[in-house]
Amino acid sequence: MKWQSVYIDGSWVRPEGAQTLTMVAPSTGAEIGEIARGGAPEIDAAVLAARNAFEGAWGQMAAVERGRLLTRLGQAILDQEDELTELEALDTGKPLALARGDIRACARYFEFYGGAADKVHGETIPFLQGYQVMIVREARGVTGHIIPWNYPAQMFGRALGAALAVGNAAVLKPAEEACLSVLRLVELAEEVGFPPGAINVVTGLGEEAGAALSNHPDIDLLSFTGSPEVGTLVQKSAAENHVPCVLELGGKSPQIVFADADRDAAIKTSVAALVQNTGQTCSAGSRVLIERSIYDEFLAALAKQFKTLCAGSHDKDLNCGPVISKVQQERVLGFLERAKSDGIEIAAQGQIMTDEATSGGYYVPPTLYRMVPRDHELACEEVFGPVLAAIPFDDEADAVRLANGTDYGLIAGIWTESGARQMRMAKAVRAGQIYINGYGAGGGIELPFGGFKKSGHGREKGLEALKEFTVSKTVVINHG
Ligand code: NAD
Repeated sequence: MKWQSVYIDGSWVRPEGAQTLTMVAPSTGAEIGEIARGGAPEIDAAVLAARNAFEGAWGQMAAVERGRLLTRLGQAILDQEDELTELEALDTGKPLALARGDIRACARYFEFYGGAADKVHGETIPFLQGYQVMIVREARGVTGHIIPWNYPAQMFGRALGAALAVGNAAVLKPAEEACLSVLRLVELAEEVGFPPGAINVVTGLGEEAGAALSNHPDIDLLSFTGSPEVGTLVQKSAAENHVPCVLELGGKSPQIVFADADRDAAIKTSVAALVQNTGQTCSAGSRVLIERSIYDEFLAALAKQFKTLCAGSHDKDLNCGPVISKVQQERVLGFLERAKSDGIEIAAQGQIMTDEATSGGYYVPPTLYRMVPRDHELACEEVFGPVLAAIPFDDEADAVRLANGTDYGLIAGIWTESGARQMRMAKAVRAGQIYINGYGAGGGIELPFGGFKKSGHGREKGLEALKEFTVSKTVVINHG
């Protein structure tokens, strides 16, 4: 079975020793299959295949042809939307409607970057008399990508869309908790005609295949999405090998609600931005900062909405699914238990709807906390579950202090009708994306995305990503 193989140089191969890892459906806790446990030998082979592809047929392909391949892959994904949606929902536990949105977003990455492939232009510089100077942008070469479990298909599109569009050859290590859609996506890439070695996928454990990839001396750029802890390890490896890295790490993103805000819109969006993917989104709006003069009233309305939330099996298509694993469930429940012993009051809690078939799934009740102290872990640390912390602020300066008062800076939502304040807040809040009267968790392939501080560095998505995945070369011609 293909799941038990890794994809290297256009072939599905069993890893040395044919070792496998068991995959579990988060909705039920039941085993659903085995994937290959690749390690250093497979990563070595994949990097070599990518190097050969970059120096061979793939590297020499015209930009327009590369673009066509990407666009064709986008269409193939849309053609298989139902199958991919079911696989993604089963594997991650996310509700079917969300999984469908993810598959469409994955297709959209390939459409967007397919169109961009032949539009990466260089520049010329006026220099001394008798000279012509050109700045050309070139692919970096072999790119290594390590992606997390929360959005396997979207991450496949985000990482590979931009990297391949500009001609890099890629080695991708998906997360061991969820990667079945990735294996199907790479099959589709093969079917639409990507040449051997352009895309290589090695499944396996982070500390084995992941570490082998980030330590590999023949990688030209590393892109990593995941936890800040592992991001630090990846960055250290990149430093050892003198390669650049793009890190997309976690967040503790705020919704900042001023007294003059459209409250209904702010409440609806605050709930959606938190519960999307059961809170397991790096850009989840996991703090709601409320101007003190409307705090009680706003929180009461938010709590009313929160009480209607339900978590259940992916195929029930409720507001939340399960979290990804037993480990993650225990981690999130740990936050709830510590909040209880610290005397933090629950403002509202949603329901868990399970039956006999799903009682073994990894569910956590969506929970809204009131008056969370500013230095409490619920106000500062990433829970990565459906847990929202409500915190009051006094005035604009206080809102900025609070918004910027964590180690993270990924995205922020600002709710106010005052145009001048919108502008001041957009400038003052340190986050990679700022939304005024809205919130775009996950959305917008076109929109550059990335962090400040512990949320990471470098930008993915949009045309900005093409800068990360290319390098400039200055050519100086003395024509006399
Ligand atoms: P993780 O860091 O444990 O794992 C991410 C990936 O790194 C996986 O593929 C894993 O196998 C691999 N990995 C683990 N140990 C490794 C090692 N020693 N060397 C190399 N690779 C290794 O993170 P996770 O638990 O899978 O994902 C949750 C975290 O990811 C959260 O903190 C979340 O905020 C973050 N995240 C960020 C973004 C973003 O775009 N900023 C998106 C999704 C998730």
